[in-house]
Amino acid sequence: MKLHEFQAKRIFAQYGVPIPRGEVATTATQAREIAQRLGKPVVVKSQVLVGGRGKAGGIKLARTPDEAEAVADKILGMNIKGLTVKRVLVDEASDIRKEIYLGMVIDRARRRVVMMASSEGGVDIEEVAATKPEAIKTVFINPDLGMRAYQAIGLASGIGLPQDHFRSFTQIALGLYQAFTASDAELAEINPLIIQGDGSLLAVDGKMVLDDNALFRHPDLEEMRDLDEEAPAETEARLNGLSYVKLDGEIGCMVNGAGLAMATMDIVKHFGGEPANFLDIGGGARAEKVAAALRIILSDPNVKAVLFNIFGGITRCDEVARGILTALDQVPTHVPMVARLVGTNEEEGRAILASAHMGTAHTLAEAAQKAVAASRGELVA
Ligand code: GDP
Ligand code: MN
Repeated sequence: MKLHEFQAKRIFAQYGVPIPRGEVATTATQAREIAQRLGKPVVVKSQVLVGGRGKAGGIKLARTPDEAEAVADKILGMNIKGLTVKRVLVDEASDIRKEIYLGMVIDRARRRVVMMASSEGGVDIEEVAATKPEAIKTVFINPDLGMRAYQAIGLASGIGLPQDHFRSFTQIALGLYQAFTASDAELAEINPLIIQGDGSLLAVDGKMVLDDNALFRHPDLEEMRDLDEEAPAETEARLNGLSYVKLDGEIGCMVNGAGLAMATMDIVKHFGGEPANFLDIGGGARAEKVAAALRIILSDPNVKAVLFNIFGGITRCDEVARGILTALDQVPTHVPMVARLVGTNEEEGRAILASAHMGTAHTLAEAAQKAVAASRGELVA
């Protein structure tokens, strides 16, 4: 789950990272009032969950409350990379002398958090990595020891930061690491971390991605989720307890069990098709859940055929079959479907589907071949 800039910065601030004073506005009038309260020039920043807002015109300086109102009016409602701006952050403008990058992610291969810093702040770190990789310094953090001050100082000197900033940089790096681990984050980033005219450091931008699998431990963070910015299919999947990942192929797959779902995708590819999604309905799914899963699969316009691969254990095949019919009542479709139901109550399940003229198969290979053929408009018996 991605957090907005203002949310990420508030979390950083709880761990001692200095951020500009500022508030969120949903109307231009509110933006004016905030600018008035701050009593300083401000920067009005669109809050959408994509990077590069600056380049897209979603970040503007304003010297007076009047100007703040005018630029907020322009930015609110703006479309940035497909997302409509509904909120702006009005921050006290800062006096930027230098922009630094500071961020961290999990390095899965090393099983450590890696902290990265670069003197080339403000721009995309991917761009720096591609064009000037030597400008990025990294340290790996031992999870038992946590981040140590000497590691932060190593980064600071590695990127050529003057020594008088070491103390402040170290405090920020340690704070960011604490924010990262305490929130079970996958990514935390300050880009840019700036040096101001008075020599102080300030986190001007903030980005955080939280680990969805750990969110149950953080109800306060879960509340920050912005439903407007989640793809509707993903919201529906999450609310129904389904594991769903959209892919680019044409064969929708509904499977019970993550391993079986992976195997199903492999076999679809083996027979020349491309899976449109990974979807695990989980064990013991009832008809309603199956119906939700089918609605989600069919909401993808690329889907040319649907393959059901159900291994009935705790999950009952007749229950799944009923779910499929319920969904077809709700979302009538001409997309061809093939079902392979094996295990508990498979006969009943197949009979229910046969009565609805749906293709069935006994083996996964047969089902996958039929689904691939059907996706190409070939007739399946
Ligand atoms: P992003 O484009 O989505 O990454 O948004 P950022 O918050 O990083 O802002 C982009 C750029 O706008 C920064 O790199 C700065 O150069 C500039 N910027 C942001 N806030 C201020 C500010 O308070 N004062 C000034 N002068 N520039 C700012
Ligand atoms: Mn940025």
